[in-house]
Amino acid sequence: MTTTVTRQIVRIDEELCTGCGLCVSPCAEGAIVMVDGKAKVVREELCDGAGFCLGVCPTGALTLEYRETVPFDHDAAAPIIEEKKAHYIAQHCFNCGVSEDDRPLLPVRTKGDSTWVCTRCLPALIHG
Ligand code: SF4
Repeated sequence: MTTTVTRQIVRIDEELCTGCGLCVSPCAEGAIVMVDGKAKVVREELCDGAGFCLGVCPTGALTLEYRETVPFDHDAAAPIIEEKKAHYIAQHCFNCGVSEDDRPLLPVRTKGDSTWVCTRCLPALIHG
């Protein structure tokens, strides 16, 4: 019998999902995959509920919910995290172009787009 817990986990609204795939890369654990043109959490034990995917979704299809599901399985996620680290495509700050290899990036919404901003450019966006 599989043990369940009540915890935070990503919820995907299929009606809002356009299948753009932007949420796949920020999910380090590989919990989000594309199935028939829609984002899905097929293996809920891989979703840690951290929500790093939320900021990049251009349609607001991703939210966090608190509900009963299987526990996060760190041992199952660990090899996927390592595999994704080995093959990731570095993202760049939309403002200055710096790579995430050189400075941390955060997801941000701007002028209707979901994109990435580096920690040096972010304060100027906040304070103008
Ligand atoms: S980023 Fe949003 S719209 Fe794009 S695939 Fe993911 S859930 Fe769907």
